[in-house]
Amino acid sequence: MPGDLSTNFWTWEFRCPCLKCRRIKVRVSSLLLFKLEMIRMAFNDKPVIVLSGNRCPEENKKVGGFPNSEHIPAPDGEAADVKIKGVKPIDIGLAAEKIGGLRIGIAKTYCHLDVRPPSPSKFWIYIGNKIIYSAKIENKNLIKFYQIVTEGE
Ligand SMILES: [Zn+2]
Ligand SMILES: [Zn+2]
Repeated sequence: MPGDLSTNFWTWEFRCPCLKCRRIKVRVSSLLLFKLEMIRMAFNDKPVIVLSGNRCPEENKKVGGFPNSEHIPAPDGEAADVKIKGVKPIDIGLAAEKIGGLRIGIAKTYCHLDVRPPSPSKFWIYIGNKIIYSAKIENKNLIKFYQIVTEGE
């Protein structure tokens, strides 16, 4: 296994970037790693770049994360913000939707994916500083939700 977490993913990619966490054990949900491997496969083995994996509560606050963020290990980190070179975040999101079992946030330059159990919103879209969450009916179809929210953007 080339990666030390899974086939293609490494501890260093998921480490909280703050100084305090340099020696803290990185903890990533194995379900999340499995889903990320599937995302990679969906794009012909193109590397999935992890922009943010684990965050301690302080780091999460610093980057403006949701207080009970899936990025904070409890006990495992359940989220990753990812990008793939040459692939739009919405296309990563659509692949994730097909794979299933993921909550999906679409930002301008990355896609947030997490495996936290169901919550009212399955999808959300970051527009500037705002976050638009899907409701029950919109949870069924990411592309429709995306088109409605980004219309005129
Ligand atoms: Zn930290
Ligand atoms: Zn995230």
